[in-house]
Amino acid sequence: MKSIYLDYAAATPIDPEVLEAMKPYFTENFFNPSANYLSARKVHQALEKARADVAVCLGAKPTEVIFTAGATEANNLAIQGIMSAHPKGEILVSAIEHESVLEPAKLFKHHLIPVRKDGVVKIDSLEKMVTDKTVMVSIGLINNEIGTIQPIAQIAKLLNKLSNLRQAKKTPIYLHSDAAQAPSYLDLHTARLGVGLMSINGGKIYGPKQSGALFVRSGVNLRPIILGGGQEFGMRSGTENVAGAVGLSTALGLAQKSRKDEANRLDNLRNLLVDETEKHLPEVIINTPLKTSTPHILSLSFPDADSERLMMELDEVGVQTATGSACSASNQQTSHVLAAIGMSNKQARSTLRFSFGRGTSRSDIHEVVRLLKRLTAVR
Ligand code: PLP
Repeated sequence: MKSIYLDYAAATPIDPEVLEAMKPYFTENFFNPSANYLSARKVHQALEKARADVAVCLGAKPTEVIFTAGATEANNLAIQGIMSAHPKGEILVSAIEHESVLEPAKLFKHHLIPVRKDGVVKIDSLEKMVTDKTVMVSIGLINNEIGTIQPIAQIAKLLNKLSNLRQAKKTPIYLHSDAAQAPSYLDLHTARLGVGLMSINGGKIYGPKQSGALFVRSGVNLRPIILGGGQEFGMRSGTENVAGAVGLSTALGLAQKSRKDEANRLDNLRNLLVDETEKHLPEVIINTPLKTSTPHILSLSFPDADSERLMMELDEVGVQTATGSACSASNQQTSHVLAAIGMSNKQARSTLRFSFGRGTSRSDIHEVVRLLKRLTAVR
């Protein structure tokens, strides 16, 4: 049985070029980059080259890049790092953020910015929600469940305008964006996006898991959350994961180089899935806003089906997907993302996320539609 992997938004296989670039730092170049002998200094140079390469992709200075163990840690550092430095301040986060943004935001006075049915944040609501107490706004660049791309540059302009207007001008409003799903498809130039902080990770871009980085624009008042030997400019102590940093920078460079071609290719594949679904499974509801979303994600609802069951049945015939609802088995809570776009519990529980990547082909799409038709017909 051929296996068809359609869960690239959860994890990507490592690119062989990335693996090759990492290997020496597990073996002959294992030295601690903070040590003072020549071999260690060479490892330190490799770490700084990786930082400089990541900085180029983000249109940033190397000193603005802090390596972390993935996007969860980068999001925590961004939010806890800013908010603990401004204990009286408040944070606004979109209602459809990843848990690694929502959970740290809950440690502070926070408000959820509502989104429209297509998942785009309601800009007029955001404008009304910003007060003199607002220190930080966190809005992900691409939503991982439905694929919506947020108009971050437009939001950044609005926040600049609002921070210039408000009385307590001394504290700017920091805009943070979780870009974990974005590097393979979007421009990540931080000045063009207008972000003050941005999180990325390696595990979704054909790099190693537990690798990531937080961009922090110079002058931003951030406090570390991991204390110790003072590595990463004092912002993230611990012996550096040089192999991870090299893996992340190599994967990011490759992702950015191929992003336009890959976005076009996946857009065609997704359109094919949409067309075939409309033709063979007319009852299926398309949740992803096709015009304002990343090409690698498609969220579909299968009326009368139970998504957990359908996902398992697909798995049995070799197709790996994800439930859009991320139901927790114990409390049967449906996805906060699907709820925030106004979906009923029932529809959320019949929703699957299909996500595509470098290994996805046209024949995979045809095969998946054929299997879906068979599996949903017997109900
Ligand atoms: N943010 C988004 C949007 C994600 O999709 C994910 C992964 O699922 C994360 C953050 C967490 O990333 P990591 O696994 O690198 O901590």
